[in-house]
Amino acid sequence: MFTPLAGKTVIVTGASKGIGRGIALRFGQAGLNVLVVSRTLAEAEKVAAEIGPHASGFAADVTRVEDCDAMAATAVARYGSIDVLCANAGIFPAARLGEMTEADFDHVIGTNLKGTFLSVSAVLPQMKAQKQGRIVLTSSITGPITGFPGWSHYGASKAGQLGFMRTAAIELAPWNITVNAVMPGNIHTEGMDGMGEAYIASTAACVPMKKLGSVFDIANAALFFASEEAGYITGQGLSIDGGQILPESPMALEEMGTA
Ligand code: NAP
Repeated sequence: MFTPLAGKTVIVTGASKGIGRGIALRFGQAGLNVLVVSRTLAEAEKVAAEIGPHASGFAADVTRVEDCDAMAATAVARYGSIDVLCANAGIFPAARLGEMTEADFDHVIGTNLKGTFLSVSAVLPQMKAQKQGRIVLTSSITGPITGFPGWSHYGASKAGQLGFMRTAAIELAPWNITVNAVMPGNIHTEGMDGMGEAYIASTAACVPMKKLGSVFDIANAALFFASEEAGYITGQGLSIDGGQILPESPMALEEMGTA
């Protein structure tokens, strides 16, 4: 039995769709006040309306320090605290080396890695004043564990989040602030629907569990890291991938007759 989190406040960045929306809905179900953040206010407000009166939308670009500071100030003004930050906003455009421009690289690192730094920095004054906080980053298996053509910049940003996390966890421990990361495998988001059924089936075939993850698989892990009971866990990344990283070669799946 976990201690209820109802009445606490979470900020979820990149929450207008995909994994962030799933996290926002799940935390909303658990009774937390939810600040639903994306660059598009109307989309953020739609998700907030799905959650109910204890949620609201806010427009912020995580690459901009002023936006991140305003996001934290708004959470405090509306709800009185910031108990949890889910730093989830991220982008994943593909470009192979030789074609990738400096601007492509800066855009991905700026959003995924610098955006993490700015979002975390913005909530720290409040969390330190409260002498408690939970920070959950959305990293990936891509970068920390695996690679995929076109995603060298993306993989660097996702591995970079884990490097950031480990030192942040040490620095913030004296304030009872934990910093952990969820590392999704292939998750079925609205974006994935656009890739078509054949793509989804071939992606699922590479996973021992033979299915993609749902946004709530990630959200449930984020909710665990936010729980009272996870208070002694910090600086850890958790793969949530149906076993995708486990086969040491395609033969492992062939052996199971499921390749
Ligand atoms: P998604 O469906 O494309 O949603 C991305 C969200 O981030 C949207 O709400 C978007 O809203 C917001 N966003 C993008 N840039 C932003 C910025 N600069 N400032 C604020 N918000 C911004 O993405 P997703 O697939 O759910 O991915 C979410 C996170 O999970 C990312 O960090 C990604 O790397 C990670 N991940 C995803 C998968 C997967 O299978 N989907 C796997 C591993 C890791 P606006 O455009 O309105 O700002």
